[in-house]
Amino acid sequence: MNKIKTDMQCPFCGECATRYVFPTQSRLKCYVCDMVLFLKYIDDDPEAIDERGFGRLAYEPFIHNEEIMELNEVFR
Ligand SMILES: [Zn+2]
Repeated sequence: MNKIKTDMQCPFCGECATRYVFPTQSRLKCYVCDMVLFLKYIDDDPEAIDERGFGRLAYEPFIHNEEIMELNEVFR
Protein backbone atom coordinates (compact mmCIF):
# COMPACT_ATOMS: atom_id res chain seq x y z
CA MET A 1 0.00 0.00 0.00
CA ASN A 2 1.41 3.39 -0.96
CA LYS A 3 1.80 5.83 1.88
CA ILE A 4 0.59 9.40 1.57
CA LYS A 5 2.90 12.35 2.17
CA THR A 6 1.53 14.47 5.00
CA ASP A 7 2.37 18.00 6.11
CA MET A 8 2.31 17.97 9.91
CA GLN A 9 2.18 21.22 11.89
CA CYS A 10 1.37 20.29 15.45
CA PRO A 11 -1.00 22.84 17.08
CA PHE A 12 0.12 21.66 20.54
CA CYS A 13 3.91 21.88 20.41
CA GLY A 14 4.54 23.65 17.08
CA GLU A 15 6.55 20.80 15.56
CA CYS A 16 6.62 20.86 11.74
CA ALA A 17 7.51 17.73 9.83
CA THR A 18 6.79 15.66 6.76
CA ARG A 19 5.16 12.36 7.69
CA TYR A 20 3.90 9.39 5.69
CA VAL A 21 0.54 7.82 6.50
CA PHE A 22 -1.65 5.02 5.18
CA PRO A 23 -4.60 6.09 3.00
CA THR A 24 -6.99 4.55 5.54
CA GLN A 25 -5.51 6.48 8.48
CA SER A 26 -7.66 9.29 9.89
CA ARG A 27 -5.35 10.42 12.67
CA LEU A 28 -1.66 10.92 13.30
CA LYS A 29 0.20 11.03 16.58
CA CYS A 30 2.73 13.82 17.04
CA TYR A 31 6.08 12.15 17.76
CA VAL A 32 7.17 15.07 19.96
CA CYS A 33 4.24 15.69 22.32
CA ASP A 34 2.17 12.49 21.70
CA MET A 35 -1.01 14.42 20.93
CA VAL A 36 -3.33 13.02 18.26
CA LEU A 37 -3.88 15.12 15.14
CA PHE A 38 -6.65 14.92 12.56
CA LEU A 39 -5.57 14.02 9.01
CA LYS A 40 -7.43 16.34 6.69
CA TYR A 41 -7.75 15.72 2.95
CA ILE A 42 -6.02 18.27 0.71
CA ASP A 43 -9.17 18.29 -1.42
CA ASP A 44 -12.60 16.65 -1.38
CA ASP A 45 -10.97 13.77 -3.25
CA PRO A 46 -9.09 11.49 -0.77
CA GLU A 47 -6.51 10.69 -3.47
CA ALA A 48 -5.78 14.31 -4.42
CA ILE A 49 -2.32 15.73 -3.81
CA ASP A 50 -1.17 19.34 -3.90
CA GLU A 51 1.66 20.83 -5.99
CA ARG A 52 4.22 19.87 -3.30
CA GLY A 53 3.08 16.26 -3.32
CA PHE A 54 1.21 16.37 -0.02
CA GLY A 55 -2.05 14.43 0.23
CA ARG A 56 -2.92 15.12 3.88
CA LEU A 57 -2.65 18.02 6.31
CA ALA A 58 -2.23 17.41 10.03
CA TYR A 59 -2.87 20.88 11.45
CA GLU A 60 -5.78 20.25 13.83
CA PRO A 61 -6.41 18.23 16.98
CA PHE A 62 -8.25 14.97 16.40
CA ILE A 63 -11.63 15.07 18.14
CA HIS A 64 -14.18 12.27 18.18
CA ASN A 65 -17.67 13.20 17.09
CA GLU A 66 -19.00 11.86 20.37
CA GLU A 67 -16.77 14.26 22.28
CA ILE A 68 -17.98 17.20 20.18
CA MET A 69 -21.58 16.21 20.96
CA GLU A 70 -20.76 16.06 24.66
CA LEU A 71 -19.16 19.50 24.48
CA ASN A 72 -22.27 20.85 22.78
CA GLU A 73 -24.35 19.47 25.66
CA VAL A 74 -22.15 21.31 28.14
CA PHE A 75 -22.47 24.65 26.37
CA ARG A 76 -26.22 24.45 25.78
ZN1 LIG B 1 3.26 18.00 19.00
